[in-house]
Amino acid sequence: MKRLSGKLFSSIDEPILGKITFKPVNLFTRKNYIFISNDGRTKFGYAANLVTTPSNSRPYLKSNSVLIDPEEIKYLNEGDIVSIEKNGVIKVLYEKDSIHNFLLLTERCNSSCIMCPNPVVTKEDDKIPMILKVISLINKDAQLLGITGGEPTLMGDKLVDLINACKVALPQTKLMLLTNGMKFEDFNYVKKIVSVKHPELTIDIPIYSDIDTIHNDIVGAKGFYKTIQGLYNLACFDQKIGLRVVIHRLNYRRLPQMAEFIYHNLPFVKHIAFMQMEPSGVAKVNIDELWVDPYDYINELERTILYLHRREMRVSIYNAQLCVLSPILWEYTKRSISTWKNIYIDTCKDCDYKENCGGFFASSLEIYSKHIKAFKLS
Ligand code: SF4
Repeated sequence: MKRLSGKLFSSIDEPILGKITFKPVNLFTRKNYIFISNDGRTKFGYAANLVTTPSNSRPYLKSNSVLIDPEEIKYLNEGDIVSIEKNGVIKVLYEKDSIHNFLLLTERCNSSCIMCPNPVVTKEDDKIPMILKVISLINKDAQLLGITGGEPTLMGDKLVDLINACKVALPQTKLMLLTNGMKFEDFNYVKKIVSVKHPELTIDIPIYSDIDTIHNDIVGAKGFYKTIQGLYNLACFDQKIGLRVVIHRLNYRRLPQMAEFIYHNLPFVKHIAFMQMEPSGVAKVNIDELWVDPYDYINELERTILYLHRREMRVSIYNAQLCVLSPILWEYTKRSISTWKNIYIDTCKDCDYKENCGGFFASSLEIYSKHIKAFKLS
C-alpha cells in the first residue's frame, strides 16, 4: 500500500477516509472528498484538506487539514481513495488508475507461510466498516477489485456481506478473492459465498506442491487436504477458480509433477499463475532457505507451462523478468506487480523490452537474478 507522509494541523480522533479531488465539488457530496489545495487555503465542507503550503486559512477551517510535501502530491490522482491516519500518514487505499487494487480485509491468517510477504499480525481493529466505505466511494466503472488478507475467510459471514456489498455497489466490476481456501472445506460456508451470486467473482487459491507434506511445510499448517476439499466444494457450484503457485527453493524441482497433479485432479480451474516470490515480510526473514535464482529453474518452468498449455489449461507467469525466461515463455508473462511497488534496476535502462517486462518488486533491490541483462533490438 502506497503511504505518504503529512503533518496534521490539529489532532484527529480517528482516521479520515475520502476520495481525492483537485477541483471543487458540490456542497452536498463534499463530506466524502479530500480536497487538494495548492494555495494554502482550506475549503469548507470537505472530509479533509491536503495543503502543499502552510495554511493561511482561519483556524476553524484548519481542522482536518494536513500539510503535505508538493512532491508527494504527485503520487495522488483524482478519484484515488485515501485514509489520513492519526499520525498524519496518508494511506492510499485505492488507486483509480491502477488495475492492481486490493482491499486488505484482515492481516490475521490461519496459515504461517514461509514466504509470506507480510509481517505476522495477531490483533487488529475491525477493518470492515472502513472497507465498506471505500467500496461505496469507488467509481462504478472500476474494472477489477481484489479482496485479500491475511486470510479473508477468517472474517466469516462478514466476507459474505462484503462480496454482496461489491455486487450491489459495483455490479460491473470484476471481483477477485485471494484466499488459502482452507475454510472452504466447510461446504455450508461455500454455499453462503456462492449464494451471493456475484456474477464476476473469481476465487484465487494457492497450492505449492503436489505432495501434501511439502505444501504443509510451506504454509506452516496442515492445510493441503482442506484446500483440496475446498477446491472441490467450490467446483460443485461451478465457481470460477484460479490457482496460484509461488516458486522458491522448496518447490521448484517438482513444478512438472505439480502440473500433472493439477491437470489430473483439478481440471476445472480456469487459470493457473506461476509466480516469483516477493522478498519482503516473512519471506525476507527466511530468504536463505527460500531463494533460488529464477534462471536456475527455467527448464522446470518451461516444462510445466507447456505441459498445461498443451492440455488447454490457461497459464500465466507473474512477477518475472523476460531476460531470465526462455523466449518461448514470454507470451505467458503478465505485468502483475502492483504499480506502487514495481521497479526496474539500472541495467533495465538500456533494455528495449522494458515496456513488456514485469520488472521487479521494490523489495527485490538487494536480491535478484544474476542473469539480468538488457536486450537490444538489432
Ligand atoms: S533487463 Fe530489465 S527490463 Fe530488460 S528484460 Fe531484464 S529485467 Fe526486464
